[in-house]
This record gives sequence, C-alpha cells and structure tokens, in this order.
Amino acid sequence: MVQARNPHIAAVLPAVDRVLQMPAVQALAVQYSHTAVVHAIRSLLSEMRQAMLEGAALPAEARQAPSLTRHLQARLEAAFQPSLRRVFNLTGTVLHTSLGRALLPAEAVEAVQAVMTQPCNLEYDLAPGARGDRDTHVEALLAELTGADAATVVNNNAAAVLLVLATLAARKEVIVSRGELIEIGGSFRIPAIMARAGCRLREVGTTNRTHLADFEQAIGARTALLMKVHASNYAIRGFTAMAPEKELAALAHARGLPFVVDLGSGALVDLSQYGLPKEPTPQETLAHGADLVTFSGDKLLGGPQAGIIVGRAELVNTIKRNHLKRALRVDKMTLAALEAVLKLYRQPEKLAQHLPTLRLLTRPAADIEALCRRVEPAVAQAVGKAAHVSVVPCHSQIGSGALPVELLPSTALALAPLKRRRGEGTALRQLAAAFRALPIPVIGTISEGALTFDLRCLENEREFVDQLAQLRLDSQKGEAPC
Ligand SMILES: *Cc1c(COP(=O)(O)O)cnc(C)c1O
Repeated sequence: MVQARNPHIAAVLPAVDRVLQMPAVQALAVQYSHTAVVHAIRSLLSEMRQAMLEGAALPAEARQAPSLTRHLQARLEAAFQPSLRRVFNLTGTVLHTSLGRALLPAEAVEAVQAVMTQPCNLEYDLAPGARGDRDTHVEALLAELTGADAATVVNNNAAAVLLVLATLAARKEVIVSRGELIEIGGSFRIPAIMARAGCRLREVGTTNRTHLADFEQAIGARTALLMKVHASNYAIRGFTAMAPEKELAALAHARGLPFVVDLGSGALVDLSQYGLPKEPTPQETLAHGADLVTFSGDKLLGGPQAGIIVGRAELVNTIKRNHLKRALRVDKMTLAALEAVLKLYRQPEKLAQHLPTLRLLTRPAADIEALCRRVEPAVAQAVGKAAHVSVVPCHSQIGSGALPVELLPSTALALAPLKRRRGEGTALRQLAAAFRALPIPVIGTISEGALTFDLRCLENEREFVDQLAQLRLDSQKGEAPC
C-alpha cells in the first residue's frame, strides 16, 4: 500500500469522527454497533484515499453525508450477510451436492432445534441414569427399516467406507472389481480411500466384465474382505457382466470372509412404486447376504449428511470400538435430524408428501409445467429486452450419483439473450450472474445458448416472483466510492 502523506488528500477527506457524527451514521451505529461502524468508516476512507493517490478525482458529492452513508450501509450489510445462504436450486438436479443435497422435513428441523437449544440425552441412558451410546437413538430404527442386526452412524458415507476398511482390512487385501474403482465428485476415490484406510486394493476382472471366478482366484491368505461398490454416477453398458451379490456373498462366507457393499445413495424404499427408476436398497443388499452395507444420509434417504453402516452385530461392534469412530462420529443435530427422518419411513403412506427429496422427485410433470407458465410473464418482464423467455420441456436429474442415466421429465424456463453484441457467451454469463446477485440467489444451468431454470425444485413461487423486481441486468456493480 502506498503510504505517502499527501496533505491535499488529508484535507479533502473527512475525519472518522466527523463521519461518525452524521445522524444517518449514528443510526447505523445503533443497528450494527459503534465498533463495526468505525471499522467500516476507516476502510471506506482508506479506499478513497488510495484511489485519490492513484489519481482518481473525488467529486465533492462523494464526501457528503448521503453518499458516505449509502456506501457505509452497503458495506455493513455485506459484512453482516451470512456466507452460508439459501438459494433457489433451479439446476434440475434435486440432490445437488454443491447446493446442500437433501432438504430436511419440518419434523427434522424441529428435532434439531430442540437438541440445539436445550440439553439432551445424547450419551445418557435415562432409565439407569448412566452413560449411554449416541448410536442408540437411531440404531434400532435403522435395524427395523433395513433388517440389519446392528447399525452405526458417522459423518458421511466416505467416512463410513474409510472406517469399515480401516477396521476390517488394515494391512490386508480388499478384492474389488475393476469396473467399480469409482470416483465420486469431491475427490472420493475408492483406491485413495483404500490407501488411506491402510489396506491393499486387489483389483480383479476387467472394466466391463468381472466374474465370480475372478474373485475366487484372488482370495488368498492376506484377503480381508470382498467388496462391491455401487456404480452410482456412471453406467457400464453393452457387453457387461458382474458377479451377482448373492454369489459373491456365498463365496465370501465359504472362505470365512465378510462381504461389504458400498451402496452410495441407498434408497430405503423401492422407488419404482413412485414411478421412479429403481435403486438398490440396503434391505435387499443385506438379504442377498452382504455382511455390511454403507450408504449416505443425505442422498436418496433424504436426511442430514451422515454415513450409515448397517449389518452383522459382531462386525458393527468391532467397528464401533475403533478409535477412528470417535473422530468420525456425528453430532447431536445430525442424530436428531436422522431419527426424525427415519421415523417418517414408518409411515410410508405419508412419505412422498413429507419427505422433501421424494416430494420433489415425484412432483407431477403437469404441476411443473403449470408453474412455468404462471411465472414466465414475471421473468419475461424482469429481463425485459435482455432475453427472450420461453417454456421448454427438459429433464431433471436425481443427482448425488444416483441413477445417472435415468432422467425425470420436467419443464424449464429458457432465457435466451437477445443482445449478441459482446458475444452470446458473455451475455449469458451476465444474465446468470444477475440472477445469482438477487437477495435469494437463483442458480440455473447454461446449455444450448440459454440460461435454463428447471422449476422442479421451486416450491416458494411467491418469493421467487417477488424478488424479480430487484434484478439488475446492467453490468455496473453499484457505484464506486469515487
Ligand atoms: C456418494 C457416494 C459416496 C460418498 O458418500 P458421501 O456421503 O458423499 O461421503 C461413496 N460411495 C458411493 C458409491 C457414493 O455414491
């Protein structure tokens, strides 16, 4: 920073105290605190000084109360705006990892609120008045819903896989098909997790075909377990073969080894009853003979971020005793939300309405289209001459790796820029940026020369429409301080 004293600049800029005494600034101090306002004044004045040193002309107006107050207010609003904010997810991907995956039902939010604001029996067994185990709040429910003997919960499914491998296969070999050495977005790679868990990956078969005999031949003295990873975010099609789970389980058991399945999404109900593509359930996988199954809490299950491990009691108990479990455990908020969400599965008739993930996935196509037609005029008015708005058919995705090839018919608003002066790409990016700059940022996708808003996940129509009046399409980012 240039710290040259320039007497002219010092004379032109008001002193911090003088700004602080302006009545409008006093009002800001009441709202945001004296300290925060002084900090904002200092940084505003220092930026003005810097700009002047660099040769910018400072109009007299910029030094007066209205302009200073406006800038201070904007600064303070920005400083106190939360970083983690709600957005409108109009990407068409229902379980969008970058946008927070599953939305919690009201029942879960109430449960979280209660344990956040009051003491609770997190690790306290009320009947004997003795120390308890935090897993007990969900273990019986998970056992009931999946048919498992036992269950435990950790921070996410990546942690679940890590914990299972580190407990059962440290310094040993884990046999996996070459067709399942997957990478999930956000740097979850099966080979890397294996290495971190301290076990050796023994790849068998080929990318498209792995037979039971491939597993059989690989089993040796160092084998700890056989593992299957659900092909969650890709599909291998054509000339393919994978040994069925039942046969892998039988082989593992004949050799005295556990058979572990990482299901990824792991829906707790058969989704085909809702007209959705079928996804394997933990209960089916366990029925096929898997000894342990791992899956996420915030994918198709529709709950909080968590990694769930269900299966044979003896193995689950060994896992719980691993010190790594302590490092990967979930907090009371996660447990409260998970318990409430799991309880909804006891009332399957209500599930499609009460569980937001399922409600959005099963939203009737006709409703989404009607919604598009209702809000289209407001969006067209907000963008004015900048873009042409039309209602177009599209396909939503489940997201988070589930069912990558199956798409859900939906309807979108397509915003095609009309001004092509600076190139279509620039106009589109500016349009998308303007929607992201709204008080509740609107996130769409850009494809085929249009900004597309799939309205499947738009449930707050009024809020969406009401804030459109604040859309600013001119590229100037508010006025500069000088
Ligand atoms: C999503 C996924 C994971 C990682 O789960 P997180 O809950 O995101 O940690 C692991 N394995 C599979 C197969 C997955 O689909």
